[in-house]
Amino acid sequence: MEPWKIELSRVDWSAYECACGERGHLGGDLQRIIEARSLGEWGGASLDGHVEDQSMVADVAVPAVGVMMAALQEDLAVPTRSEFMINLWRLVDGEADESVTEEIHEQIRDGIWLIYREATNGDTETAMEILECVERDPARLEHFRTAVARRLSKRTR
Ligand SMILES: [Zn+2]
Repeated sequence: MEPWKIELSRVDWSAYECACGERGHLGGDLQRIIEARSLGEWGGASLDGHVEDQSMVADVAVPAVGVMMAALQEDLAVPTRSEFMINLWRLVDGEADESVTEEIHEQIRDGIWLIYREATNGDTETAMEILECVERDPARLEHFRTAVARRLSKRTR
């Protein structure tokens, strides 16, 4: 069994408020999005309006980030990986209680090499935005920024 599935099953999803006002559904939605091999298999599931809404971060984002980080180790379909990267970026930069923000940043720092791998092999721009919010080693971040600079300029051309 993949670690993300065990991490997902560890969470009592109904204990956390979702940005949509409901509770309990996000665990199942995350599972569907992670297991999907294409966007068509999401069955209408989405993170938008649930982990955050108009940059207000919901409590459920904390366990959701744990599951997303565990899932990023796996060979995810392209739309799933990009949904997770975009949402992680929104969450590190969103409005929330300081404790919620700190917990989210902490969980991403725990898996920081997954984000660095994305910076060197995937969505460089989004990965660097996330790292800018969470990385505590400015010298390392600067070194990587220089190393991936060509990938960034390629994207904007
Ligand atoms: Zn919801």
